[in-house]
Amino acid sequence: MDLYLDAEQQKTRRIAFVHCEDEDKCGFLFEFTYPNCTFYFCKEHKKGYGADLNTLTGAGMDCEQHGKMERYDILQEDNVCPSCEKDMLAIISVGR
Ligand SMILES: [Zn+2]
Ligand SMILES: [Zn+2]
Repeated sequence: MDLYLDAEQQKTRRIAFVHCEDEDKCGFLFEFTYPNCTFYFCKEHKKGYGADLNTLTGAGMDCEQHGKMERYDILQEDNVCPSCEKDMLAIISVGR
C-alpha cells in the first residue's frame, strides 16, 4: 500500500496519516482529513476516532461502551503511540 501522497493529491485530498514508528510489531495507523488532526483513542477497542473540530467541546469524546477516550493532537505535540504506548507517532503526509 502506498501511503505517500504527491503534491497534487495533498492539495485536493488533504489527507494525513499518522503511524506508529514501530511499524512491524505495532502497526497503528490513523487517517486524518487535514486540518482536523485531532483524534480520540479507545484503549479497549484499540481504535482511533476522528474528532469533528466544529463540534468538539472541552468535555472531549466518550466511547459508548468504555467511557472517556484519550485525546491526541498530532500537529501540536509529540505523542506516544496509543496502541503500544512505547514508540512515538510519526506523521506521513499532510496537505497544505
Ligand atoms: Zn471502546
Ligand atoms: Zn505503537
